[in-house]
Amino acid sequence: MIHAPDRIRFDDAIWSNGVGNEVQKFTKNVNWCVRTDVPLTPAILCESTDNFPDGIQWLYEMTTQGIIYPDLHGFDHGPYDTRPQAEIEEHLDKAQVWFKENLGVPAIRWVTPHGSDSIAMQAAAAKFNLVIETTEYPVVDQKVLDTKLRQTGDISLFDDVVIMVHYWERGLRLYRMARIIEHQGVEKAMEATRSELSKKDWKICWNEWEAP
Ligand SMILES: [Zn+2]
Repeated sequence: MIHAPDRIRFDDAIWSNGVGNEVQKFTKNVNWCVRTDVPLTPAILCESTDNFPDGIQWLYEMTTQGIIYPDLHGFDHGPYDTRPQAEIEEHLDKAQVWFKENLGVPAIRWVTPHGSDSIAMQAAAAKFNLVIETTEYPVVDQKVLDTKLRQTGDISLFDDVVIMVHYWERGLRLYRMARIIEHQGVEKAMEATRSELSKKDWKICWNEWEAP
C-alpha cells in the first residue's frame, strides 16, 4: 500500500505582496511535488495573480496538461466571512470569469482565506457551484505534519489528509516531504536525495532527522 496524501494545496498563489521572485518561488515549490503523483491544487488569488503574466502562462500550461488543478482562494484575500452575500457573489462571479479567461477552466473548490466560513459564504458558493474547503481536518498544515514525521518516521500519517502549504514558506521542508512520499520512507528519501542535493543542502535538508 502506498502512503500518500489525497492532495497538496498551495495557498496564496501568487502573492503580489511578497518580496523576491514570487513566480519562481511558487513554481519551484509545485515542481518539487510533481514526481509524487499526488494531485496538486494551487489556491489562486485572482487579483494578485493578475500582476504576474508569466505566472498565469505557467498556470495555464500546467492546468491544460493536467499536472495541476487550480482552486479558488479568493478574488482577493478577504476577509470574506464579514462580507454580505451580495458582495461575496460579486467576487465569486469575477473570480469565475477570471478562471475561464486565464486558466481555461472554472474553479470547483473554494479554498477560503484563513479557513473562513459563514452562512453567506456557503450560500454564495452554492450559486457558483463551488465547494468550500476550510483549514479543518483532513486539511493539515505541512509544518505540523513535518514535525510528526520527524518524531515518528511513520508515513501512514500521509493517509487521507490534504497537506496545506504556503508556497512562500522558505526552506526545504516541502522538498523533503515530497521526497518521503516519492520514495515511501524517510530512510529511502535520505539516501535518494544525496545525488540530487549538494552536500551542504543535504545536511540542511535532513538536519535533526534520523533514519527511523
Ligand atoms: Zn491565504
